[in-house]
Amino acid sequence: MTAHIIDGKAFAANLRSRIATQVSALKERGITPGLAVVLVGEDPASQVYVRSKGKMTVEVGMNSWQHKLPADTPEADLLALIDTLNNDPAVNGILVQLPLPGHMDESAVINSIAPEKDVDGFTLLNVGLLATGQKAMVPCTPLGCLMMLRDHLGSLSGKRAVVIGRSNIVGKPMAQLLLRDSATVTIAHSRTTDLEAICREADILVAAVGRAHFVKADWIKPGATVIDVGINRTDDGLVGDVDYAEAVKVAGAITPVPGGVGPMTIACLLANTLTATARANGLPDPE
Ligand code: NDP
Repeated sequence: MTAHIIDGKAFAANLRSRIATQVSALKERGITPGLAVVLVGEDPASQVYVRSKGKMTVEVGMNSWQHKLPADTPEADLLALIDTLNNDPAVNGILVQLPLPGHMDESAVINSIAPEKDVDGFTLLNVGLLATGQKAMVPCTPLGCLMMLRDHLGSLSGKRAVVIGRSNIVGKPMAQLLLRDSATVTIAHSRTTDLEAICREADILVAAVGRAHFVKADWIKPGATVIDVGINRTDDGLVGDVDYAEAVKVAGAITPVPGGVGPMTIACLLANTLTATARANGLPDPE
């Protein structure tokens, strides 16, 4: 038996095409969703991410703005730019690309974004809304994982889910989303004892660790659904956190790297921008 390969690339293309249709419908009503991305400094990986976010934003028919600031920009100047974007009605979503240069207070910068335009879902208000089960702007990477899980499994209710990783951008919000869908959730991290045995109980295993081939095939319950969030650059190219070649022989379904979670993250950024636009205009959330 080999696992069903969850094709994140195709899933994301499909989601983007649905978003494009909804954007056209909004445009007919005189509303064009707009996403502003702010990049501080010249980090090469961040430049690639920002460029592809801009390209995809335009492809679905949204307005896209990129603000590139030098690495030595004073924090006050960045806060002033965010304030301008917060007050610009044409801007529905604001994303500040992380990481920020060391002299900046990341938390202060993120929390200066108006929560209703916080398409990354990182502001304290959105984190709190998600944690209390209220309508929030949900972080893009875990949102993409959730969509693929729901699509593959249907209801997640009662399933045992293990999330390896407890970061604020992936692990914790992933666990919140699984809990919201009534899975029984365990969050594992670097201090977890007997990680392998915990993983073997999982019907749903999400790996967000940042270590190549960390999760071995014999940690996976036969038939489990495995979501590999990791992006690790190795001599063999990009690989995930799961030992994919062996895991496909045990899992029921698995996301590949590349072509799994990555493409869904950007598609969910566009979905969040669409949602923010709908809410700003008093319209129901898009399906
Ligand atoms: P972080 O480094 O912030 O978090 C990693 C987590 O893994 C931590 O909670 C850490 O535990 C845990 N961990 C580290 N070592 C072990 C171990 N030996 N056993 C168990 N747990 C361990 O990473 P991120 O959450 O930001 O990202 C995780 C991965 O996902 C990275 O590869 C990143 O590149 C990728 N990523 C992919 C995205 C995509 O679009 N596909 C988007 C965002 C991230 P502790 O807290 O105890 O230190």
